Amino acid sequence: MQIEQQVSEQQYDRFQQFRFIASLRDEPNCRWCPRNGCETPCIADPTAPTHPELQCPVCDLHFCFDCNQEWHPNMTCAENRKFLVSIGKISKEYVAPLQAIPSE
Ligand SMILES: [Zn+2]
Ligand SMILES: [Zn+2]
Repeated sequence: MQIEQQVSEQQYDRFQQFRFIASLRDEPNCRWCPRNGCETPCIADPTAPTHPELQCPVCDLHFCFDCNQEWHPNMTCAENRKFLVSIGKISKEYVAPLQAIPSE
């Protein structure tokens, strides 16, 4: 009995999360935390003085609103992208998942 209850609660949570994610599809200021396994949706405030730097409220990762990579102080998005390609972190064909929905 107890296990059944837990499962349905989990499913309910997932349902709520799904609804929340679906509501973010239309949110132009929404970015997903780029950290693997975190992928928390963050709503940016384009008028904030720190913009386009975002901070994930869950894992505290700083990342870039424009290119959705880890924050890159003193580099443009293009320079950062070149750098990430040069160290093999991303491939040349990589396209930033600006509003990608986590695959799950
Ligand atoms: Zn995060
Ligand atoms: Zn950037």
